[in-house]
Amino acid sequence: MLMGLGIMLITFVAMEGVAWAMHKYVLHGFLWFLHKSHHTHHKHAFEWNDLFFAYYGTLAMLFFVFGSEPIDYRFWIGAGITLYGVAYFLIHDVFIHRRIRLFGNTSNVYLKALNMAHKVHHKHTGRDGSESYGMLWVAPKYFRSAYSILQKRQQGEQTWRSTPSKS
Ligand SMILES: [Zn+2]
Ligand SMILES: [Zn+2]
Repeated sequence: MLMGLGIMLITFVAMEGVAWAMHKYVLHGFLWFLHKSHHTHHKHAFEWNDLFFAYYGTLAMLFFVFGSEPIDYRFWIGAGITLYGVAYFLIHDVFIHRRIRLFGNTSNVYLKALNMAHKVHHKHTGRDGSESYGMLWVAPKYFRSAYSILQKRQQGEQTWRSTPSKS
């Protein structure tokens, strides 16, 4: 069991690397025609880019099917992929792109940095020349700017509170 959880954790971390490489070299490469739907503004509920959820879902399912009787390491790899898929969906689709309104503004430095990094990725609507292809791993420079923005926001709130009202 402990061994299984370890494999699941390693898979989760490895998936960030896989997702980064896929995004940088495949989605912004020969599968750009599918990923393009995610870099352009539109009013549809679904995008061609959502097919990648089906792809990772199928991959995880195959690991579950082949690693279930009896449960072996493949089961836990499947669990790691699933866990990463859920985290990716919550962070990328719900928190960053607000496809479902669940979270408000954050005061968490990590989440703020992650959001900024991905918004920078979306600044480019073309195939080439973008940055920040990862999802959960965020470059230090975004932490610094996220921290100073949150700091300023907090200071703004404090001055607002200490100003006496004229009622
Ligand atoms: Zn992209
Ligand atoms: Zn995005």
